[in-house]
Amino acid sequence: MQIYNTQFHKKQEFTPIDEGKVRMYVCGPTVYDQIHIGNARTFLSFDMIRRYLMFKGYQVTFAQNLTDVDDKIINRANEQGRTPAEVAEEFSTAFIEQMRRFGILDPDIRPRATREIEAMQEMISSLIEQGNAYTVPSGDVYFSVRSDNAYGILSGRDLDRLRAGERVEVNDEKHDPFDFALWKAAKPGEPSWPSPWGAGRPGWHTECCAMIHRHLGTPIDIHGGGADLVFPHHENETAQAMCAWHTPLANVWMHAGMLRVEGDKMSKSLGNFFTLKEVLDRYPADAVRLLMLQTHYRAPLDFSFERLDGAAGTLERLATCVENLRWAADTAPQDGILSELDRSLGAAVDAAREEFVASMDDDFNSAGGLAAIFGLVSTANKYLADAGGNMETAPCLRAADMLCELSGVLGIDLAKAGAADELPAGIVDLAREQAGYAGDSASEAVNALLAARAEARASKNWGVADAIRDGIAALGLSVEDTVAGARLRMRE
Ligand code: AMP
Ligand code: ZN
Repeated sequence: MQIYNTQFHKKQEFTPIDEGKVRMYVCGPTVYDQIHIGNARTFLSFDMIRRYLMFKGYQVTFAQNLTDVDDKIINRANEQGRTPAEVAEEFSTAFIEQMRRFGILDPDIRPRATREIEAMQEMISSLIEQGNAYTVPSGDVYFSVRSDNAYGILSGRDLDRLRAGERVEVNDEKHDPFDFALWKAAKPGEPSWPSPWGAGRPGWHTECCAMIHRHLGTPIDIHGGGADLVFPHHENETAQAMCAWHTPLANVWMHAGMLRVEGDKMSKSLGNFFTLKEVLDRYPADAVRLLMLQTHYRAPLDFSFERLDGAAGTLERLATCVENLRWAADTAPQDGILSELDRSLGAAVDAAREEFVASMDDDFNSAGGLAAIFGLVSTANKYLADAGGNMETAPCLRAADMLCELSGVLGIDLAKAGAADELPAGIVDLAREQAGYAGDSASEAVNALLAARAEARASKNWGVADAIRDGIAALGLSVEDTVAGARLRMRE
């Protein structure tokens, strides 16, 4: 299996440190607000990577931190007249909730910075003792980049050139403009912990490094994050590990490409963002997942709602194919003799799996993996059309199972596609507006809406009935009137 290692700018054969096991860490969010879909793209990329490693039979231990003390949290708390701890708690909970909603597996270990202060202080003490860090009169502690001959090794940056080329913050206390804070002296009203260097809090770069050492041991197999973290965050992380413990922090450094809107990186500061929550309120999680996985994780991804609509349609096509294959398997005569056509579907099933694995083995090329899945969808659809009602159970079932299995490796759950819990969350709001519904359940909301529509139609209240239908259509659903009454469909 080949993985692209940022540090060496090339794909390398992956060999875990302990046979059959992978220890991986992905930098988590700073919990001061809802995350946006750019952040979500990075987390989804590593969820896909983790799931594929598990599919390959590795026992994966996955750790992801929550940065729950930081300037952004403190600022937000001050703006809102709340404590930083309250803000961090609210958005930690929100993050975990939205990740689960997006189908991202929970990490095995989820350290929170505020509960790991001791490990960070131990690391800082060791760096001071070894001459790689220094204290200053204000009570801050800085890492000395000059003390580390290897500084720049991950991002390929040269300190002298960096100093000449980039503007960095002016701080009289630092020995070098690229020195970074390991410990920040407490300012009045800020959260702080006692330390040998005075009350304060850890610097961001310090957190991840100390937590990795404590929970996973160094070096780990894979360290991940968004491409914007390579410098300085990951450079600083690896510098600390090399100096504190004389081991690299990670063998393989992986970075996800940026999600962009109209050419610009999606970011809070540009204001060009959509939160994951608002997108998942409007679209099924698997449609968002499919859209993101159609682009290789390292490439930039251009987001638009048109593309998301397209992905929602593609997901439907996939789910419909599985439904049709299962229906065909149920209605086909049992134990017939396999025709040429049946055998060709069987061969396509095997070929799809091979193509899927070959793509994913090549640096997790999920776009290629999806192409293999859609190749099988096309073959299966053609089979169903050509068989003219003369299908065989076995190849239909095998094709349906393979589509579910391979999609499942990418975290796309076809068993639940079209099921009630996949309904867009907006359905509840619609039922509240149009049907006087007061609860929280999407499936109850559907029933309330259908009942309200039936009642409006019975009393010839066409305006109301149409408004309900239009509201449902706006969520990408449709109402189908059958002899047994109205039912909601996930597609037109
Ligand atoms: P932050 O909370 O800003 O540290 O970001 C959390 C994660 O999201 C980091 O791994 C970032 O690299 C990543 N990230 C931030 N913006 C984007 C974006 N536009 N596209 C992809 N990943 C992003
Ligand atoms: Zn980190």
